[in-house]
Amino acid sequence: MDPREQHATWVEVELAAIENNVRQVRALTSAQVMAVVKADGYGHGALPAAQAALRGGATWCGVARLEEAQELRRGGLQCPILVLGPLPPGRLAEAVAASLSITVFEPEQIAAAAAAGRELHREARLQLKVDSGMSRLGARPEEAIGLARLVVKTEGARLEGLFTHFARADEADRTTTDQQLKTFNQVVDGLQQAGLRPPLVHAANSAATLSLARSHFDLVRLGIAMYGLHPSAHCRLPDGFRPALSWRAQLSQVKLLPPGRGVSYGHAYVTQAEERIGTVPVGYADGFRRLAGNQALVRGLRVPVVGRVCMDQSMLQLDAVPGAREGEEVVLLGHQLGEAIHAEELAERWGTINYEVTCGIGRRVPRLYG
Ligand SMILES: *Cc1c(COP(=O)(O)O)cnc(C)c1O
Repeated sequence: MDPREQHATWVEVELAAIENNVRQVRALTSAQVMAVVKADGYGHGALPAAQAALRGGATWCGVARLEEAQELRRGGLQCPILVLGPLPPGRLAEAVAASLSITVFEPEQIAAAAAAGRELHREARLQLKVDSGMSRLGARPEEAIGLARLVVKTEGARLEGLFTHFARADEADRTTTDQQLKTFNQVVDGLQQAGLRPPLVHAANSAATLSLARSHFDLVRLGIAMYGLHPSAHCRLPDGFRPALSWRAQLSQVKLLPPGRGVSYGHAYVTQAEERIGTVPVGYADGFRRLAGNQALVRGLRVPVVGRVCMDQSMLQLDAVPGAREGEEVVLLGHQLGEAIHAEELAERWGTINYEVTCGIGRRVPRLYG
């Protein structure tokens, strides 16, 4: 069915692209692939994105929060799921009950998770996070052996993994990443010598997966690249990856305005001549930023957004496409007849990164899958 019959604006996600992107990564590494589907799969929809990634050969899912993992379990996913972020102590039992892998970096968390495991008569699956230089979450490298030993000797807990996260793997200069990798390797070696190396050691995000094979260890954590988006301007996807998401709408009204007419709040734009103005049902509440300089595609041509972006709507200057009519498709992000607006272009315009562009598309914009 034509989505325009049903929705004024919608996001289309090509799941075959996600599946393909994971396959591309599988061809690059012998490590397992964790599909990182936090933040509703970077705005693509967590469950469908995860299912597509699993079809492409991913064996793990990674999320930031307990609720995200529970959503995947409710959706029927039985694969291992790592909650990458911190779990509130009051929710540990739920995590154990859902067979989630839990990130720990402090003795109190280990004790509490193990207690939850004993209570439920099943082992809490723990992964030790080491801060090798991101300065975000994790134990100090010199604490790792002590914590690993604590997990191993505590009944109700199992040491399943050890991991770290890179701060600058998407940059051309490798100095920081090399330093982090060296620090992390020392931790891995220390655990190995103490007979404590867990089965799953991991460090690489998308950027490191693409550019630093030495960082792959047993598993790579694939986020942005799985959605077909470049990790950065310096770390671009090789050929063969494709973006999965496009954001579309239909023109809700087209009108011919006389010269000197103000458009939208504040009349920040005033028509110079008789101008064709179209209204599109997309606003800042949908994640379309309230900044000057936005563009959209109509009939494969770029047209400017004029006047202020409203909460739910925006106006387009349609002089370049005199034939444009109500109901006509508008592309905010994606391809149309050989022209394209990429997430990277929007990110540049909005002073952010492509990650924030797709994560920021509002929940009220329906996701359609094809
Ligand atoms: C979000 C996240 C990832 C994925 O990062 P990408 O740059 O999107 O590949 C990997 N690991 C951790 C710990 C994360 O928080």
